[in-house]
Order: sequence, then C-alpha cells, then structure tokens
Amino acid sequence: MQLIFEKSHPGRRAITLDPFDVPEASLPDELRREEAAALPEVSELEVVRHFTKLSQRNFGIDTHFYPLGSCTMKYNPKMAESVAADGNFAKLHPHLASVGPYQRLCQGAFEVIHELENCLAEVAGMAAASLQPIAGAHGELTGTLLISAYHRAKGNQKDTILIPDSAHGTNPASAAIAGYTVVEVPSLPDGTLDVDAFKEALTDSVAGVMLTCPNTHGLFEPAVADIAAMAHEVDALMYYDGANLNAIVGRCRPGDLGFDVMHYNLHKTFATPHGMGGPGSGPVGVAEKLVPFLPGPRVHAEGEGYELIWPEQSIGRIAPYFGNFMIALRAHAYILHLGAEGLRDVADKAVLNANYVHARLKGALKSAFDGRFMHECVFSAAPLAKEHGVHALDIAKALLDTGFHAPTVYFPLTVKESLMIEPTETESKEILDAFCEAMLDIARRAKEDPESLHAAPISTPVGRLDEVRAAKELNCTF
Ligand SMILES: *Cc1c(COP(=O)(O)O)cnc(C)c1O
Repeated sequence: MQLIFEKSHPGRRAITLDPFDVPEASLPDELRREEAAALPEVSELEVVRHFTKLSQRNFGIDTHFYPLGSCTMKYNPKMAESVAADGNFAKLHPHLASVGPYQRLCQGAFEVIHELENCLAEVAGMAAASLQPIAGAHGELTGTLLISAYHRAKGNQKDTILIPDSAHGTNPASAAIAGYTVVEVPSLPDGTLDVDAFKEALTDSVAGVMLTCPNTHGLFEPAVADIAAMAHEVDALMYYDGANLNAIVGRCRPGDLGFDVMHYNLHKTFATPHGMGGPGSGPVGVAEKLVPFLPGPRVHAEGEGYELIWPEQSIGRIAPYFGNFMIALRAHAYILHLGAEGLRDVADKAVLNANYVHARLKGALKSAFDGRFMHECVFSAAPLAKEHGVHALDIAKALLDTGFHAPTVYFPLTVKESLMIEPTETESKEILDAFCEAMLDIARRAKEDPESLHAAPISTPVGRLDEVRAAKELNCTF
C-alpha cells in the first residue's frame, strides 16, 4: 500500500478554509517556520480512501473473532458508544469539576461516577470503589499502595507480597513499584495453587497476597476461602486481580471469598474498548477497612446533589481528574443495560463457550490441565513441538491466515508452549465451530505438512515480524 506522501501532487488540497471572519493576527517572527512544512498534498477523496483502507487492515473485535486469553476481547455494544458520544458528557470540560462554583454543572457526571462505583462495589462484594486508576495494572499499583497505607496506619512492619507463579507479570511489577519484596508461590501440576507451599511462605512479614480466581490457568482455586482465612490470621490483605471477573460476574463475589482489595478491568469484563494499549480503566474496589485510604477526591452524595470529598487518610490522587471518565460512561451503560440477570448470563455463557471450545479441541491438542475450565481454556503445543517441530507461535501465525486472531501464546509461563483461548460470551456457536475447524485443520497440518505452518502467515499485509528487533528498535515513522 502506498504511503499518503507518495500520493502527493503539488497544489492538491483536501480542505478549503472559510474566509476570515476575525481580524488577521500576525505571528512573531521567531515563531515562524523558515520553510513550509512538508505535508502531503492530496484531495479529500484520496484522504478518505487512504484512511478507510488503512482502517480495514486493522484487526478488531468489530471485524473478527479475537480469542485472546486473559484479555476478554468481548464485543463492545454500540449502545454504549452512543451514550459516551452524548454532548452533555463529551463536551463537559474536566476542569469544571475542580472549580467549586462550577461543580453544579458536573452533577450529572458526578452521578454517573457515584452510581458506577456503587454498581462495581455491589457486583464484587466490596464496600466502595474508585474509578481513578486508568488500567488494570494501574489498579494493581493503587491496590498495593492501599495495602501499604493500611499497614502503615496500623504500625505493621511488613515488606512482602505473595504471588502465584501463574500470575500476570503486572502483579509482581506493581507490588515491586509499591515497595514490596515479591515471593513467588508455586502451582501444583493440576494448575491450582500449592497450598502447602503457600502456608510455608506465609510469615508475619507478609503484607498481602495477590490472586486471581479463576487463576490464569482458567481454573477456579478450590482453596481460595481457606487461603484468605490463613492470610487474615497474620493480618495480610487479600488482593483480587479482577482480569478474570468475566468468569464469575453475577455468580460469585470476590468480597464474599475473603478478598479485601481488587481491581476491575472495565475494558475486559464491562465491554469497553481495549484500544491500542488504552484508554483503559482499572477501578479499585475495597473492603470497609480500606475505605479511608482511597484515592481522592471522591464523589460523595450530599442531600440532593454530589460534592467532592477527600478520604481522611487518602493515598492521594493517582490519575488526572476522575480517571477515564468516557470509558466509565460506557461501562455504566453496559451494566444498567444488562442488569443483574444479564450479568449472570455473561458468566454462564462465557464459561459454556470456553468449555465447548475445549471439548472440541482436546482430542487434537494437549489440554494443559484435567480440571474444569472456567471462561478460558489452556492447551500445550509441547507434544507437537517435540514430534513435528511445530510451536505455539506457528499455530498462532497459521491461524491468522484463516481470518481469526491468535489466542494468547506463551502465557501463562507455567505451561510449556501454551495456547490460551478465551472465546467470551459474545460469540455465536457458528463462529466457535468455524474457529475450532480452523484449529483442527492446523493440528492436522502440523503432522502432515509442518513446513506450511512455519511459512505462515502468508495472507496478511506483513509476514512474520522480527518482534525482538521491533521492540528494541521501535520505529513508528516511515
Ligand atoms: C490484563 C491483565 C492485567 C492487567 O490489566 P491491564 O488493564 O492490561 O493493565 C492483569 N492481570 C491479568 C490476569 C490480566 O489478564
């Protein structure tokens, strides 16, 4: 595809400006360019075609099935987009909220924040929530800072956080940034946490335990309530990584399992766009004992309206304004639209779909675990790698040629050659069947014609990328 600069013809213009209706002002000389900027000179039609074609090369949930495990790439309903596009919200200047007299103009936005925080707290069995963190990982950092503030206020001397070996890499990173030493707890061969190893690691210096449930193997931790009780005996707080909430939303609440603090990924469970690394939203939920430490300012219901308050022992502001408010709007619309019954249905269908895919593929691919999967299932390509030299990466690349996005590969790290598939509740049986047929065909080719898989993808705009070099020598220009 040609670059837009290559389509440039001197004198072509995409826009014509209206004549001035204000007095012309002159720029000071020192601010003027010496030479005109080198811009593409193209017609409006060329611009439209160029960017429409580029957008069609994008791989997204609006165009393709996207079974990326742990990421919950569900459909983002357009109803929520139209709510977010409402000018009464979209044109609200964020600075209005910080100017006392103008806060009356923000009452509608404050109501959304307040209601959504209450909905999220209710869904997860927490006492309160804050929408400030702008990504799941940012929620983790906020949560670990809350754990730290809690122990400081109590005079507890604790410096360690326990994290399973199956955890997402952001968990240890967040704990470390909050100043903690991370101790890894191993998993058992069946994919669940090794409770004996956990007991051994659980000393008085443990400030918190970070878990996700179901864990990143897609399995519900059977001992989660016992783990929480043991942690609480040494006054360690339980952190819930909410990335997998889609598996249990409406059915089971982290607060009832014994968790004290958590994050939600609105862009996973609550159907807001993932975007290109954002804008995300990773609100935190907390049990009663952590409410005084929440980030400020908080929206507080007072009489008929809302005002801003600072929690007594707040850890401070952790994001500009109120986090990604436009994303919060979409999640709020989604939750109100589905209601409690609809949210339960989400978890049921997400689990059903993952188990359907697992049942169809387990004859051809090695299942990583024997237990009952929740909303995602994990396979290992290790046998195919050993016998036919076909790795998880080859399977992922070959899948791109069939029009499906690849599943997550090489995560969780505990499974060799792992392929983690999360279909989500928003896909039909026909799509799941087509995906399974594509995977079964690839598994057949791995045995009969492994070379063809090494060459994949052949139908995408670019073939295999040198990903290591791309990360080290990032060059986003042309
Ligand atoms: C996605 C994810 C995170 C981090 O969330 P971001 O919003 O991407 O920062 C944390 N833990 C797990 C298990 C995840 O899947």
